[in-house]
Amino acid sequence: MIEEILPDIYKIEIPLPGNPLKAINSYVIRDSVRSLIIDTGLNRKECMDAMHTGLRKLGLKLRDADFFITHLHADHFALVPSLVTNTSRVYFNQPDAQRHARGGVWYEMVAAARMHGFPERELQSALRNHPGYRYGARLDMPLSIVNQGDTIEIGRYRFLCIETPGHTRGHMCLFEPDKRILFSGDHILGDITPNIQSWSDDWNPVREYLLSLDKVYELDVELVLPGHRAILTNCRQRIQELKHHHRKRAEEVLLILEKGPENAFQVASQMSWDIICESWDLFPVSQKWFATGEAIAHLIYLEEKDLIYRKRAEGKAIYSLHITQI
Ligand SMILES: [Zn+2]
Repeated sequence: MIEEILPDIYKIEIPLPGNPLKAINSYVIRDSVRSLIIDTGLNRKECMDAMHTGLRKLGLKLRDADFFITHLHADHFALVPSLVTNTSRVYFNQPDAQRHARGGVWYEMVAAARMHGFPERELQSALRNHPGYRYGARLDMPLSIVNQGDTIEIGRYRFLCIETPGHTRGHMCLFEPDKRILFSGDHILGDITPNIQSWSDDWNPVREYLLSLDKVYELDVELVLPGHRAILTNCRQRIQELKHHHRKRAEEVLLILEKGPENAFQVASQMSWDIICESWDLFPVSQKWFATGEAIAHLIYLEEKDLIYRKRAEGKAIYSLHITQI
């Protein structure tokens, strides 16, 4: 499905079969010299077919297109290697590019999941069912690294790169200050909340995410073009809702720990999730994985605020509330 959003800006809906996200929004900014494609879909046939159909309808040839990847999640970047030509530029942020180049991230994530109590019997199927593992790709082409404040000009539009870490370490939005448009990737979504997860202790994604929301709040945005679902016009209101959501999440985790020490997997099993399922045990394993990652992110946030602490027991991380002595 293709839709003209503004003059020379089109949205191509790329299906994500079997994924609760349903589809990803790929955006095309068309120009007679070079066009820009923002985010693409997974490395699978259904995504490729939808992309080719969309580009054909626009009369756009891949040799005339450059790419901008908002962040290192396969539903956004994994189709890029199959679309690039030897004339394409691929704009990407430095932290996510470095992480991708380092490789081995899946094994680190599995080790972290094990430490946070993810059951051994479900670990392998969690990995096999992870869309990024199953339909990923390597970005082996030269990348054009962009940083905060860099500009990308396409026809009548001049986009500013805005670093918005949180959803990933290097997540980047594109902002058009004159037209007041924000391509928000997965930083701001409308009817679903971006998944904030952590699988390592060397950063605090919830804190980073909240700071990035504050940063975007300062921008004068009229239209938000997100990576999934519907386009939004209430940027600041949505930012306040997302901040509220994470405050509530943190409170929920504290309430769970009031009952006693738990690991992240156990905490995740008691948090509230927007999924129609009778019990945690019946959750699809990939949803248990995302839920555990989100629980870890909130536990790290509370740990850094010194509201909870972590102990290691038999290789597992167990979290407890600080007991205030009277
Ligand atoms: Zn994402």
